[in-house]
Amino acid sequence: MDFSWNETQINLKKKILEFAQQELKEDLIKLDQEKKFNQIDWYKWADFGIQSLIVPQKYGGQELDILSITYALESLGYAYEDNGLIFAMNAHIWACELPIITFGTEAQKQKYLPLLAQGKWIGSHGVSEPSTGSDVYSLKTIAEKKDDQYILNGHKIFVTNGSIADLIIIFANVDLEQNKRGIMAFLIEKDTEGLIIKRTISKMGLSTAQMGEIILDNCVIPSENILGKEGSGMAIFSHAMEWERGFILASAVGTIERILERCVKYARQRQQFGQPISKFQLIAQKIANMKLRLETARNLLYKMAWLKKSDKPALLEAAMTKLYLSQAWIDCCLDAISIHGGYGYLTEFELERELRDAMGSQSYSGTSEIQSLIIAKYLGL
Ligand SMILES: Cc1cc2nc3c(=O)[nH]c(=O)nc-3n(C[C@H](O)[C@H](O)[C@H](O)COP(=O)(O)OP(=O)(O)OC[C@H]3O[C@@H](n4cnc5c(N)ncnc54)[C@H](O)[C@@H]3O)c2cc1C
Repeated sequence: MDFSWNETQINLKKKILEFAQQELKEDLIKLDQEKKFNQIDWYKWADFGIQSLIVPQKYGGQELDILSITYALESLGYAYEDNGLIFAMNAHIWACELPIITFGTEAQKQKYLPLLAQGKWIGSHGVSEPSTGSDVYSLKTIAEKKDDQYILNGHKIFVTNGSIADLIIIFANVDLEQNKRGIMAFLIEKDTEGLIIKRTISKMGLSTAQMGEIILDNCVIPSENILGKEGSGMAIFSHAMEWERGFILASAVGTIERILERCVKYARQRQQFGQPISKFQLIAQKIANMKLRLETARNLLYKMAWLKKSDKPALLEAAMTKLYLSQAWIDCCLDAISIHGGYGYLTEFELERELRDAMGSQSYSGTSEIQSLIIAKYLGL
């Protein structure tokens, strides 16, 4: 087992750190309060190449291996503080680019991947509905086949990037009686008639990522926009979830490291009762726990990356990675706020934003309870 990174990977990390430090100057407190999409940085990261990490070279991407991508995303979370934009990029990569790379036709790949890789188009996916959350395969959006087309009617909610997306993968059922076997995935472009962006949904954190509520009202989709084969929607969703759950929080590992370093520095500087607060064992223990969480999270993440690099199934590991990393990120933010005392509660210290951002991770890509159920199922429970 070799835990060392090669020179190319180390250089990529270095470049990400330098780029974030030198090129990205947006006022995150303001953007967070205004709940605006961080468009400037989206294009800057696209020029840098984050949105093209997984895309094959043939379609203008970098086609990096999954270990390098994991390291790049971890470095991104360490170097760059806009968790909302990182989340938007993750949704774009795992929920839109990856399914097209894996299941798309040659024509679909040629049409969409270069635009998505360059960040000129923003991708998203819509599965969740007002009455369908964790019980995802009970979705009610209907796709009715008519000649060579499908007519979609339904209602999607929680769609990350949804209100600004150029391309949305929408999951719908062609035959509710077939239950999950009737589910299909459709590639829907933003100007398609019948695709109605009802609103941008305001939320607790990840404010620079825009979340949409979408209505499909007799939305006509040509059959060339089916993703995968008829009835393969469940397989597409399950594949996307394995990767998304495994890697969507790679950046959070970097974020935890950044917050940990900040806490160490603060605890050594801040004096109370005539000594640095780091000398109080209750504070030191919080920091030691943060370090333990960081390294455990990292090990789960790297194992996940190694499994996928080795083409092995990793549904159990994906659930464990998602469950552990989300809780580690939340706990780390709570400890950081506590270590900073009253200052941790202030907006200008930017830790309360970190906590609000971290909280979303226990819900998206399947809640923590659902990840626990998956783990239990693998244990035969
Ligand atoms: C920031 C964010 C981004 C998101 N992005 C997207 C996106 O891009 N596309 C998309 O389609 N969706 C997205 N979602 C939706 C997300 O996938 C759902 O919120 C999630 O699947 C849970 O569904 P729900 O909110 O309807 O909760 P429910 O399923 O109603 O769950 C409510 C509670 O019951 C628990 N529960 C449900 N079933 C069980 C069970 N069997 N056993 C034990 N407990 C259970 C849940 O864990 C939760 O605590 C996003 C959500 C968030 C918060």
